[in-house]
Amino acid sequence: MPEHAIVMGGSVAGLCAAAALADRFEKVTLLERDPVPTEVRPRKGTPQSWHAHLLLTSGQKALDDLCPGLLASLDERGAVGADAGKNFRWYMSGEWRPVFESGRHVRLQTRSLLETCLREKVAAKNVELRFGAKVDAPIHRDGQVVGVRLEDGSELESELVVDTMGRGTKTPTWLEEWGYRRPPRQAVRVDLAYCSGLFEVREGLFPGVSAFLIGAQPPRLKRGAAAFKVEGGRWMITLFGYHGDHAPLEFEDFCEWAKTAACAEVHHLLDGATLQGKLRRFKYPQQLRSRYDKLRSFPGRYLVLGDAVCSFDPVFGQGMSVAAREAMILGELIDKQGVGVRHRSFQNAIARVIDDPWQMATTEAYNWPETTGWKPAGAKLLQRFTARLHEKAAEDPELYDAFLDVVHLNERPASLFKPRVLRRVMFGARAVPAKSLPPASDPAVEPEPGA
Ligand SMILES: Cc1cc2nc3c(=O)[nH]c(=O)nc-3n(C[C@H](O)[C@H](O)[C@H](O)COP(=O)(O)OP(=O)(O)OC[C@H]3O[C@@H](n4cnc5c(N)ncnc54)[C@H](O)[C@@H]3O)c2cc1C
Repeated sequence: MPEHAIVMGGSVAGLCAAAALADRFEKVTLLERDPVPTEVRPRKGTPQSWHAHLLLTSGQKALDDLCPGLLASLDERGAVGADAGKNFRWYMSGEWRPVFESGRHVRLQTRSLLETCLREKVAAKNVELRFGAKVDAPIHRDGQVVGVRLEDGSELESELVVDTMGRGTKTPTWLEEWGYRRPPRQAVRVDLAYCSGLFEVREGLFPGVSAFLIGAQPPRLKRGAAAFKVEGGRWMITLFGYHGDHAPLEFEDFCEWAKTAACAEVHHLLDGATLQGKLRRFKYPQQLRSRYDKLRSFPGRYLVLGDAVCSFDPVFGQGMSVAAREAMILGELIDKQGVGVRHRSFQNAIARVIDDPWQMATTEAYNWPETTGWKPAGAKLLQRFTARLHEKAAEDPELYDAFLDVVHLNERPASLFKPRVLRRVMFGARAVPAKSLPPASDPAVEPEPGA
């Protein structure tokens, strides 16, 4: 067994990579610049943790495969279970999605709880978690990365180094310094901002509902809202807006702003709610993909994954699930190719995982006339198809179910073009006999009387 692997960056992608490497190296060292976390709360290095994070069902499975028992830990620590069709209410394209038992179980928790549970699982493996360890640069020698130099001047040797330092990674600059090309970049400018807080809401509001997602309504209404019931009975509420329509940070203005989303449910939640701490904002100017898969020449024993390769519009909730699947690929390729896993094989394999969510998120971005930058092929046609699908799915649970499979990255978007699904998109549910999905008992989303 090879001796030592180093992972640079200790967020979700880094923890997933470390989990995958743990079974394949004598020892794994994970380097994270932040101090040791002592509480379940956001770290400086992951400011997105102040905001709503949804873990898709495909991501749940991948994370639990990498770290068996993770989902049970989340349940024990108070993650809120929800059926994606029944308890997770989604308003998009001017209508609520059908309410039905989908059998798709999602867990809702703060991003900090997820990271904490993941970290505990990884720490129980042969992984040394080194906090307060800021990477200066990988050590490159004769076409290979042979270790990492830390900011304090110390050096670590290894047989494999994985970069999971997120969007801000310096790998493109280091590549240039070592005599390679920078990866070509695809940037899609959406000028999005999240504004979020954790709230205690009034008792008895919206029984049976654990989450609301109220989509923005392109091309005009640029704002939307997400509210997830999380551990401790609190609600994580995020107001988001594209192309400069950013929610305010003052509590009263925040509540007023919520009223102007396409539906008032999140505003009702905020009515009489108590904010814990303060409201936080995260600006997300652009979706960004670095095409490492296009580089022919690359240092040996060095790989990049997670947001460092691709950062998706967060409203789609894809980043953590994609990172987990990339880490699984890392493990599988090491099994096939050994520690000298080829950069091209790895980047091509993860590109196949990235392509679909990237296509979805960037195609949707062009529903805004203000969006600029790299444009996916066939965007117009796909937008027309998706608009039709959304219209029909509003009254067709089976079609919505097929769509949820794609949204949760369990199926490829191509599955929506299978004849059975396509007929429903083109001609409506009556064109195809229903599989009779059981309806949920409480289709209307109304606050409790007197609430
Ligand atoms: C506002 C927002 C909301 C989001 N919502 C969702 C969601 O609902 N669902 C979802 O799946 N994804 C979501 N994402 C994406 C998700 O947060 C990321 O995809 C996920 O965290 C994986 O990113 P990463 O680990 O690659 O990078 P990051 O999370 O950015 O972590 C990088 C890590 O590297 C460390 N680091 C950086 N430089 C150094 C250095 N020199 N030395 C040592 N350590 C270093 C940082 O401190 C940090 O811990 C959201 C993102 C944002 C911005």
